[in-house]
Amino acid sequence: MATKKHDTPLLDQLESGPWPSFITGLKHLASDEDQQYAPMVNSLLGQLEHSYETRKGYWKGGTVGVRGYGAGIIPRFSEVSSKFPESKEFHTMRVMPPAGMHYDTKVLRELCDVWEKYGSGLIALHGQSGDIMMQGISSENVQPAFDEMNEMGFDLGGAGAGVRTSMSCVGAARCEQSCYDEAKAMRMVINNMLDDMHRPSLPYKFKAKFSGCANDCVNASHRSDFAVLGTWKDDIKVKQDEIKKIVETLGRKGFNDQVVNMCPTRALSLNDDDTLEIDNESCVKCMHCINVCTKALSVGDEKGVTILVGGKRTLKIGDLMGTVLIPFHKMDSEEDYEWLVELSENVLEFFADNALEHERTGEMIERIGLVNFLEGVGVDVDPNMVTHPRTSSYVRMDDWDEEVAKWNKRKGTAAAE
Ligand code: SF4
Repeated sequence: MATKKHDTPLLDQLESGPWPSFITGLKHLASDEDQQYAPMVNSLLGQLEHSYETRKGYWKGGTVGVRGYGAGIIPRFSEVSSKFPESKEFHTMRVMPPAGMHYDTKVLRELCDVWEKYGSGLIALHGQSGDIMMQGISSENVQPAFDEMNEMGFDLGGAGAGVRTSMSCVGAARCEQSCYDEAKAMRMVINNMLDDMHRPSLPYKFKAKFSGCANDCVNASHRSDFAVLGTWKDDIKVKQDEIKKIVETLGRKGFNDQVVNMCPTRALSLNDDDTLEIDNESCVKCMHCINVCTKALSVGDEKGVTILVGGKRTLKIGDLMGTVLIPFHKMDSEEDYEWLVELSENVLEFFADNALEHERTGEMIERIGLVNFLEGVGVDVDPNMVTHPRTSSYVRMDDWDEEVAKWNKRKGTAAAE
């Protein structure tokens, strides 16, 4: 039976701008009358129009889940279900994407089939949470939809006060700047935390993200509690022939403006013969020169990771970039990946035991002090642990030499042990 279409004059205006509109997408789904989801989406459009008229939202939470899981479904119950009964339940299922978000079209088609059978047909790839957001399903369909997706190899992601869905960048499969195996690191770390994802019992959310280089394509440094960023320790690799070609194209002034003068630590200089000189000791691995001279410059051979903790924009105490916990760790053996899993487990356990209710890792570290946190997770203090880059050149350096000597001595002792 054809359902009555809701009039949506206010929503229609959203379709008039230059960009594709989600309203057009919803109308497309609502018009597909052979599909089970059409009445639900039509009803949803009606409710949304009603919200625009009254300037109020009408979704409330509740409890919906699948067997054995305490998270992964975001319940949405309508407060105006008497007016719009077909969309009275419009829950979201958070489905964990594969590492690096690699799919083939067969898998995507199968996911769409499941959602057309049980849900609203509306899917978002991917929300800022990283999940595949399957939006709009009734309570009774949640379990069978999950069972079918689970059969395909998918699992639910995180929600609430637990470990959240993780993200890794596209990584070594498609990107030449990749400095470690991001997909492997993500899978190993997250698989080890799955219990805390599916049965949340932490003080607050905990996110881990994995970027292959400092370009940080998944926003790990400021949007995760445990950020793993690829980097390198030796010299940037230079192909001087390619540099000369770029100088020829941009001109010396253009090259200086766009490459040399953009280096934050003035580590670059252009020689008279149009070759590039790099003071690698001063390079802070910001990726700028490599990004703009992709054919000529590339990351070094001694690759590994820098690990930051506690980043989040915005926290209750303000914005925090992650604080460096591990300045550099080489990633070239199975043991290195096991070390990463153990470190992440220590950080998560310390967070679970010491954070206050509704407090993120960064806020906890700010409250108890970095030194106490380091002691708790079993990491030695290192001068390279930086919260944010120095902004003032006027820094008192009295006694620095003695402190450096003490640190070197400590490191020497540690190496000897
Ligand atoms: Fe300078 Fe950044 Fe290039 Fe290093 S990576 S040399 S800091 S521009």
